[in-house]
Amino acid sequence: MQNRRFIVDGMLGKTVRWLRLLGEDVTYMKDLSDKSLIEKAIKEKRILLTSDEDLFKAALSKNVEARLIEKGPIYSQIGLLAKEYGIPLEFNPKKSRCPRCNEPLRKVLKNEVEDHVPPHSYQRYTDYWVCSNKKCKKIYWRGSHWKNISETLKMCIKTVSHNNGKSESKLERGRKPRKAS
Ligand SMILES: [Zn+2]
Repeated sequence: MQNRRFIVDGMLGKTVRWLRLLGEDVTYMKDLSDKSLIEKAIKEKRILLTSDEDLFKAALSKNVEARLIEKGPIYSQIGLLAKEYGIPLEFNPKKSRCPRCNEPLRKVLKNEVEDHVPPHSYQRYTDYWVCSNKKCKKIYWRGSHWKNISETLKMCIKTVSHNNGKSESKLERGRKPRKAS
């Protein structure tokens, strides 16, 4: 059972949605100050992902595990993170979290969502998942956007294999050495 969790700065919304889809527990609050982000990372033992070098350095100085994410295509960001943390690059709805709110998804019977899904989708698709957060309840199915998702996943996998054996160029990792006691 992996228990790593992330906290992500406000600039990386797309990265957040992808990580949640792949089953990672990711806190994301757009308007949190750098100070609050770092405090939350410490309190909840989360790894901070950021594209802001100052925030990255500030986190390291507080002994928070942090990673600097270079701006670039999403498949490159996710591919490198997947390699680093051993995140499987496959869609597993049993693990997936709601990209919108971070709560787990649960599988539902098709007829449970009939009134909430556009009729043309309802006719075409059999499998549905609902966000378990009662305030969110967003419904997911492998609709027309699914093709894009699986294409991006393929690109992520390519990124991983391209980077095998090479030193990390796009992802900077940091953690201050622990003080000897
Ligand atoms: Zn949700």
